[in-house]
Amino acid sequence: MAPRLLAAGLASDAVAGVVLRDVLLVDGSGRPGLRTDVLVRGDRIERIGRIGTGDARGLRVVDGGGRVLAPGFIDLHTHGDPLQSAYTQYLAMGVTTVLLGQDGGSPALRDSGRAADSLPAWMDAVAAANPDVNVATLSGHGALRRRAGIDDGTRKPTDAQLERLQAILDADLRAGAFGMSTGLEYVPGRYAEMRELASLGPVIARHDGVAMSHMRNEDAGSVRDSIRELVEASGPARAHVSHLKMVYGKGEAAADDLLDFLRGLRDGGKALTADAYPYEASYTGVAIVFPEWALPPSDYDSVRRERGAELRAHLQQRVEQRNGPEALLFGTGPHAGETLAQVAAKQGKAWPDVLLDIGPGGGQAAHFVMDRALQDRLLLAPFVALGSDGSPGGSHPRSAGTFARFIQEFVVARPLLPIEEAVRKATSLPASILGIADRGSIREGAKADMLLFDPAKVRARADYVHPKTMAEGFDLVLVNGQPAYENGESAARAGRLLRRGA
Ligand SMILES: [Zn+2]
Repeated sequence: MAPRLLAAGLASDAVAGVVLRDVLLVDGSGRPGLRTDVLVRGDRIERIGRIGTGDARGLRVVDGGGRVLAPGFIDLHTHGDPLQSAYTQYLAMGVTTVLLGQDGGSPALRDSGRAADSLPAWMDAVAAANPDVNVATLSGHGALRRRAGIDDGTRKPTDAQLERLQAILDADLRAGAFGMSTGLEYVPGRYAEMRELASLGPVIARHDGVAMSHMRNEDAGSVRDSIRELVEASGPARAHVSHLKMVYGKGEAAADDLLDFLRGLRDGGKALTADAYPYEASYTGVAIVFPEWALPPSDYDSVRRERGAELRAHLQQRVEQRNGPEALLFGTGPHAGETLAQVAAKQGKAWPDVLLDIGPGGGQAAHFVMDRALQDRLLLAPFVALGSDGSPGGSHPRSAGTFARFIQEFVVARPLLPIEEAVRKATSLPASILGIADRGSIREGAKADMLLFDPAKVRARADYVHPKTMAEGFDLVLVNGQPAYENGESAARAGRLLRRGA
């Protein structure tokens, strides 16, 4: 059980302050670590330097024993809803701030299509709910479309519809959303054309938000065109590629080519960043292998009846291109835990027929479509931050392992980069991408989101068979100065709803 030492005389169970003695301060900037003490009072870092006994009176004292003290990690790509579930597995891997509203979606529109739902109202509800982590959100473009009353299949919204989109986005940003996300591979984002997308860039820029995108096509041969589309659509706003990858690309040279392309755009003056996770499988709906003409608003049963042979041929070609039926592992539904090849063998059917039966709405799956050498190279680029692309209870190990695996594999086991740079990519880099000024670094006056850990003891324990097993090794996690997770146990719910510019 985690000890909760309370300062004497406090009416609530809030901790008045903490002194962390003899830590290796890795402050998030990338600068070399420094042995020192840190004093936290309330929710802020008050002092860095030798802290005397007198200064520590009435405060909890933690002996760091030379362990790393780092800012809490900021996850740039998170799913789920803190009104529905706790983010304990995120705290366990060192994440103290999550960014929701991804891929064009919105946690406020879980049940999709309820046009009356409002993101600002959801934000107020989260603020009142004492989440266990800090919660920031984007405004999802697909959700905006539905809130503006645009039917999903619409490619050319009217001027009046575009004005509604802009007005709702503006209201979300004024309420403190950090930018807008698009999900251009999904319904309804896939129906959006440049005129529509480009009309929103200036609205995002007006609030100094970021335009984040799950791009239209992540295949190795198309990813550059997708990035060009993002850059054009974002216009004057900062642009950010979500879960950067090259589906079925191979090797470090391919990664270097893509990074050169990104650097060229950055050198040309475009503010352009990305996030990635250290796993070889993506995780998304099986709809990803179906052609657009089989997706909503098309009626799948009619499509199957009328164009069955053509659909079967498409599925066969698409799955083979994506490393075959062994590389598609169901994560939800009746076949969870089995590959498409295994389900086909069990049912005594050809695998394309299994997919035809399942249909595009048939649940989520892990897709082993990435090359490790290539993805590692992308993840090491200095302008690429971490993003788990996971959710509480998610069926991909990235949901419970991303940040721990990054420390374990990239810093300790191989090692590919120093702890200072690894921490920077998970703290001050994402903070600067979001425009959060008072988190993501340990300095006097900043908010006290902090992690105490020995990098050599950090373990990501989730795998594809046990995707929910929590990470280990982050001994003490402070959120807004309060112990939120300690020695494997949840403690205070000290997270806040973060608003841009607040
Ligand atoms: Zn995505």
